[in-house]
This record gives sequence, C-alpha cells and structure tokens, in this order.
Amino acid sequence: MLGAIEAGGTKFVCAVGDKTGRIADSIQIPTTVPEETMAAAISFFKQYDIEAIGIGSFGPIDINHDSPTYGYITSTPKTAWTNYPFVETISQAFGVPVGFNTDVNAAALGEARLGAAKGLDSCLYITVGTGIGAGAVVNGQLLQGLSHPEMGHILLRRHPADSYQGKCPYHRDCLEGLAAGPAIEERWGAKGKDLVNSKEVWDLEGYYLAQALMQYILILSPKKIILGGGVMNQSQVFDSIYKYLPELMKDYVALPELADYIVKPGLGDQAGITGALLLAAER
Ligand code: ADP
Ligand code: ZN
Repeated sequence: MLGAIEAGGTKFVCAVGDKTGRIADSIQIPTTVPEETMAAAISFFKQYDIEAIGIGSFGPIDINHDSPTYGYITSTPKTAWTNYPFVETISQAFGVPVGFNTDVNAAALGEARLGAAKGLDSCLYITVGTGIGAGAVVNGQLLQGLSHPEMGHILLRRHPADSYQGKCPYHRDCLEGLAAGPAIEERWGAKGKDLVNSKEVWDLEGYYLAQALMQYILILSPKKIILGGGVMNQSQVFDSIYKYLPELMKDYVALPELADYIVKPGLGDQAGITGALLLAAER
C-alpha cells in the first residue's frame, strides 16, 4: 500500500492506493495550520500499512536533495507554513521513503503515466486556479534544475486595452498576476463562474495564456499540453487559446491539431493525487 498527499492552499487530499494509480481510500482535510492539518493527515495514514508516501505540495518548496532545507515548504504566502519541514515530519511519523515534489509536477507525472499524455515521454501540465503553476515531464522525467520550475510568473506583453495593474505580490503583472482566478475577479469585479456570459473576459484570458503557451512550446517543446484548475472550467478559454496561439506563432513552429494538443486533464481532478501516488511508487 502506498500513501499520497496532494497539499493545496485550501485543502489537503490524502489517499492510499497502489502503483497503478488505483485509489483505495481518500479523505480531504482543510488546510489550516500545520499542527492541525498534519495531525489529521497522519492519523488517516496510520490506519494503513504504508510502504512509501508521495507528496505533491503547494510551494515554493525545496526539492534539492543536497540542500539543508530539502523537503521544506519555503517562502509561501501562507505564513503558518513558511519554512515547514514537510518531508521530515512525514518520515518521522512513518519511517518510510517519502517522494516530494510540487503539486503541478505531481499532476504532470500523473497525466504523463496514466492520463492525457499516457504513452508520451513529455508533457506540460498547467493549473489556472488561485495561482498559476506548471509542471513538466521531459524525456520521461520530471523537470528539475536549480529548483522546480515556476512557470506561472513569466512576463507577458500586455493587451493594449487592459489597464488592470495585476495581482502578483512579487511581480504585479506577471502571468499569474494577470490571469489567475483572483486577478480575473479583481479586474472584472465578479467571480469567474459568474462571468460565464462575458465573452471579453475569456477572450482576454486566452490572449494571455496563449502567449505563455507559446513560450513554453518554444522552450520545452512538450508533446502534450494539459490545462487544469478552476478557471479552465470555462471551455471558452480553450477556444480563445486555439485562436490566439497560431496568430502568435505565425507558422514558425508547426503545431499539431490544437484540440488534440492542448487538452483538459485525462484524470480530471485526480491528476495531482494520482501523481503523488506515483511519486511514492518511484521512491
Ligand atoms: P486552487 O487553485 O485553490 O487549488 P481551483 O483550481 O479550484 O483551486 O481554482 C480556484 C479559482 O478558480 C478561483 O479563483 C475561482 O474563482 C476560479 N474558478 C472556479 N470555478 C470556476 C469557473 N467555473 N469558472 C471560472 N473560474 C472559476
Ligand atoms: Zn509573479
């Protein structure tokens, strides 16, 4: 039996299952303070005989094995979790190997092995929700360098009619600052789900995401791009991306049929937790 944690800023999903991604039991725990949330997670896993645990966490996190703070959540805006030794806490509780990566890298792994990119040796998984983050599988492996990628914070060309200042506390009008759920809400004065009929909202959303995808495609050349997260429930955003991306790329790179290339998660909302199970299996 393997354990998996998808640690999000709002909730933790904890699951037990096997290396094929089959989930036998799972629970959701609100993300409050570490003492409370982790205690609930640990008591869930204590019911089972666990051989390894995989964690896909919100970040930024330290995934560099040579670092003294490996396994920590580092500079998160959720201050109760700043410098939190996530891996150490789990290893001490269970004495089993722990796999640790970002939530989006876990989702990318899940999609590459068992989801929309199954059978491919590369893919990019992007979530557009409270924040924007992306994980990538390249040559069959999760992309990791100095640290994990932070693709949500790239800079873009502004739409000439968009005077919104942006919401990222670090860069103001980076991709996340312009296009994540809270930016949509602040710019337009209503929640995304209440703006279904406002075509200009989703056209602009696709305008920014298409620019981001162009950059990811030019740099990483992924064989499949998977877009998840709450905002992508608006299927109109896919249509806007399909319109803007070829306009930007101008035939410089031959793109596959876009409806097959840029898709929703094959695992639905289970991509992250399934990937975390695979992180446990890898360990
Ligand atoms: P999180 O990123 O916190 O894990 P989600 O992926 O659900 O959670 O993203 C939440 C964000 O997505 C919120 O800003 C919310 O307004 C937005 N959102 C959720 N559902 C929709 C929807 N149907 N249409 C547009 N935006 C949505
Ligand atoms: Zn930013």
